[in-house]
Amino acid sequence: MNILLIEDEPTIAQNIKERLTAELYRVEWANNGITGLNKALFEIYSLIILDILLPGLDGLSILKKLRAEKITTPVLLLTALGDTRSKVDGLDLGADDYLTKPFAMDELSARVRMLLRRKSNQKTSSICIDDLIIDTTKREVTRDGRTINLTSKEFQILEFMAYNKNRALSRLTIAEHIWQDNYDTMTNFVDVHIKNIRKKVDSDSPGKLIQTIRGLGYMIKDE
Ligand code: CA
Repeated sequence: MNILLIEDEPTIAQNIKERLTAELYRVEWANNGITGLNKALFEIYSLIILDILLPGLDGLSILKKLRAEKITTPVLLLTALGDTRSKVDGLDLGADDYLTKPFAMDELSARVRMLLRRKSNQKTSSICIDDLIIDTTKREVTRDGRTINLTSKEFQILEFMAYNKNRALSRLTIAEHIWQDNYDTMTNFVDVHIKNIRKKVDSDSPGKLIQTIRGLGYMIKDE
């Protein structure tokens, strides 16, 4: 699980990073709003921990921008004691939860677990892209009503791409999501799987959903 931590106070950031790393999450730290927003826009995370008062760009503006870009990654806001206004605004803007500073690391860890669990529970509906329907509960895929049989890995890759539709995903990002361990040696397998997925999903339809992004990787495009 990749977590993006956008927080400018080094001591707090260090403590959060140490705790979550010890719990086997991968934590990336951005110490200002601009870097944080760019990472959140162009990389894939399971969760974003977002401070409100930040140099460069404040947390609420980052949140607003992410939701406007249809990035639905869960956001845990870190708010200052007594700052009820930001808390309310943050939840209105689509934050999933908040923690008031100062907080105990046990509390943070519990919230993180809860948000990640909630996120995985949401993965029970169907994702529709054009005439492609991915039923993530039954793990069934149809295109224009025709059943498509995928292997388990092919399904995982297609599902991951569908959750991140209209975003270019690098081979490394896909490999990291699918294989976790030793993923850096698996990037060539991504090409092989994509080739097979394409054959099954796109070859019989006029609209090609899976696009190759030169020099980077792949994207599912929803017209
Ligand atoms: Ca701050």
